[in-house]
Amino acid sequence: MYIPSESQFDPDQNGHFGIFGGRYVPETLMPALLKLEEEYKSIRFDKEFWTEVDGYLRDYVGRPSPLYFAKNISDEVGAKVYLKREDLNHTGAHKVNNVIAQGLMAKRLGYKKIIAETGAGQHGVATATICALLDLECEIFMGAKDVARQELNVFRMKLLGAKVNAVESGSKTLKDAMNDAIRHWVTNTRDTFYIIGTIAGPHPYPMMVRDFQAIIGYEARAQILQKEGRLPDHVLACIGGGSNAIGMFQHFLEDKEVECIGIEAGGLGIDSKNGCSLKKGRPGILHGQMSYLLQDGDGQVLEAHSISAGLDYPGIGPEHAFHHDNKTISYDYVTDEEAMDAFVWLSRKEGIIPAFESAHAIAYLKKMPNIKDKLIIINVSGRGDKDMIQAKEILHFND
Ligand SMILES: *Cc1c(COP(=O)(O)O)cnc(C)c1O
Repeated sequence: MYIPSESQFDPDQNGHFGIFGGRYVPETLMPALLKLEEEYKSIRFDKEFWTEVDGYLRDYVGRPSPLYFAKNISDEVGAKVYLKREDLNHTGAHKVNNVIAQGLMAKRLGYKKIIAETGAGQHGVATATICALLDLECEIFMGAKDVARQELNVFRMKLLGAKVNAVESGSKTLKDAMNDAIRHWVTNTRDTFYIIGTIAGPHPYPMMVRDFQAIIGYEARAQILQKEGRLPDHVLACIGGGSNAIGMFQHFLEDKEVECIGIEAGGLGIDSKNGCSLKKGRPGILHGQMSYLLQDGDGQVLEAHSISAGLDYPGIGPEHAFHHDNKTISYDYVTDEEAMDAFVWLSRKEGIIPAFESAHAIAYLKKMPNIKDKLIIINVSGRGDKDMIQAKEILHFND
């Protein structure tokens, strides 16, 4: 059973990873965040809490997720490639690992109402699912533009009993959904628990969500040691806010021989519209945290672009900003076009249709220098079912 332990990469007591992170929020939100921090401290190493989490992760989510040796793509690139199959989780992605733990925490603390923000709808669906399971009231904030382009996920959330609020402000996407969720929380903190979907937001969220996703790397480390008798040379994952990546990397960061590589959304290209907060952004403040941000000269947040809604975010979790500057993790990017090629490639070579997000990590196999004979793990953060309608519009097969 997995229980987190203290790590050298834990933030300081105000939630700072180096100069990043923190709690840049209106005063009215501080009592709720301090209370949440207390609550998190009380369960972080609590065996009873983690036993309950473990039970649901096994029997409801289907963990441990397999570490699969992808022989066909390995032969093609001349390396040994293993895929960590988070796509096989119930609800189709890694998001549920975090939501089940936060949901159980809310339940334990006696909250009856849950709110969450969502972009493509994956975190919204995971949250609606767990609220159905745990008998909690659920309200989801989603940009109006995303509501329109992710019709099926909106229907799923409603089917599961959640209320979905279409957010009409700003660019009507994830950034604005999160603004509105925070705004709602400020006036309802007494009976409402806010489940954030990635390692962003004010302290303690980045640390809490990272602990809840660290099960991915914990399992992968044991699985690769069992299968290969050694640690991998490289571990790859895609980065939106950065939760599947940090969850995967967490248990490899102290191994000097392992290089962790986070893949940002290169969108239309590095000098065009993209989601490369680290490569193209500067430190700034958004959603209560200091991190790298895509912004203009006045510090106004720019719109990100990625073909995958889950990577379409102008910021990045503060812990990644720290690892970037500290060089504990390497970062690179993959464009929309390269990701789509990898989406088809993995489907045809291995019979595995990845999420557009995960296809970014897969695509990096074709860009990576010195890949020959290396042992590589790639986190397949989710499955492609949610992307079928969009894929059908983009891809045309002449049969
Ligand atoms: C949400 C999502 C992502 C991006 O979020 P991270 O916090 O960066 O992991 C990646 N892949 C899938 C399948 C997602 O649903």
